[in-house]
Amino acid sequence: MTIKRVYLDNSATTPVDEEVVKEMQPYFSSVFGNASSFHSFGRESKAALDKARAKTAELLNAQPDEIVFTGCGTESDNIAIFGILNAYGKKGHIITTQIEHHAVLYSCRHLQKSGYDVTFLPVDKNGVISVDDFKKAVRDNTILVTVMHANNEVGSIQPIKEIAAILREINKNRKDRIYFHTDAVQTAGKLYIDVKDLGVDLLTISSHKFYGPKGAGALYVKKGVNIFPVMFGGHHENGLRPGTENIAYIIGLAKALEISVVNLKERDARILSLREKLKKGILEKIPEVTINASGEGAVSGILNASFKYIEGESLLLKLDMKGIAVSTGSACASGSSEPSHVLSAMCADPVAAQGTVRFSFGCHNTDEEVDYVLEVLPGIVEDLRKMSPVWNRNKVKSVK
Ligand SMILES: *Cc1c(COP(=O)(O)O)cnc(C)c1O
Repeated sequence: MTIKRVYLDNSATTPVDEEVVKEMQPYFSSVFGNASSFHSFGRESKAALDKARAKTAELLNAQPDEIVFTGCGTESDNIAIFGILNAYGKKGHIITTQIEHHAVLYSCRHLQKSGYDVTFLPVDKNGVISVDDFKKAVRDNTILVTVMHANNEVGSIQPIKEIAAILREINKNRKDRIYFHTDAVQTAGKLYIDVKDLGVDLLTISSHKFYGPKGAGALYVKKGVNIFPVMFGGHHENGLRPGTENIAYIIGLAKALEISVVNLKERDARILSLREKLKKGILEKIPEVTINASGEGAVSGILNASFKYIEGESLLLKLDMKGIAVSTGSACASGSSEPSHVLSAMCADPVAAQGTVRFSFGCHNTDEEVDYVLEVLPGIVEDLRKMSPVWNRNKVKSVK
């Protein structure tokens, strides 16, 4: 018997849509020119690149020359942060949050060590920063604000529009504008992204989180933003991302974003119903579970659950043996036994936090898969708890 395989780690990455693969195919072979070459081979690639740029821009309500294609989300985040600081030219203050993805968090920690002042805004128990805290954090020497759109571990959505509105007011009275970047990797293709409506200056997306290929990202840079390259070479991508463009992957990114946006409403409704079904089932069948955010005010595809008295890693492995793929915290953090920085910031009970896994849904998941998870998960949790001395002690107590 082959075991059923259920992929519930769509926030780590997604499979590439078949239509996207088809769209990319010619650019590995028949259309291979360097987009910077002036002959017909090059011009063919350049035309395809321009088309992908126009499409990506349109889907984000940006202008084509405001889109910089990059190698991934991490790269977009780094170009945004270091690019703005490079252009500013002197040290100053940065505002971010305690729950950023490592691409932003570690960049900011590095900057702190290099002499920048950094404010890491705290979050409430739902994983959301306070707009008031943000207002208070702004200083005369603030250069950059970087706050993620939705968190990758618990799905909480940050008040990006409100922050942008506050910054607009503050910037009216300043010589040096404070720039606003958001990492929208977990929302692109899942929420309608309109850069004008959000009011941000820079926005990061990554293709492999919305059924495009790994190794392709984009950075929206609003016209007029003072940004300086962090890498040097050719004139590609407005000089911000030198290097021969990966046409096939860029085409893939644009196509995947298009498909995601076209199907957004229908997919979102289905994904939300799957998450709610799993959440309800878990809470009904398993005692001592805490759901972290993963509700209203969060993206629909993430269910972050803490199972008290067990290790998240053990649960992940047991589920994997049943063919079910989940993650502990974020994929990038797994392998380390440190508690998740996101749950710590949310002041989650540290004992419960140890037993946390993230189920993240995608457009390919089905009701039957959720039924299967609900069939095997309670038994696995029970077995693991039997091995926990704390669980057994508590059980004896409650029996008395
Ligand atoms: C996955 C992810 C990234 C990194 O994107 P890559 O393309 O894998 O480098 C950055 N930020 C968030 C919120 C993510 O979920």
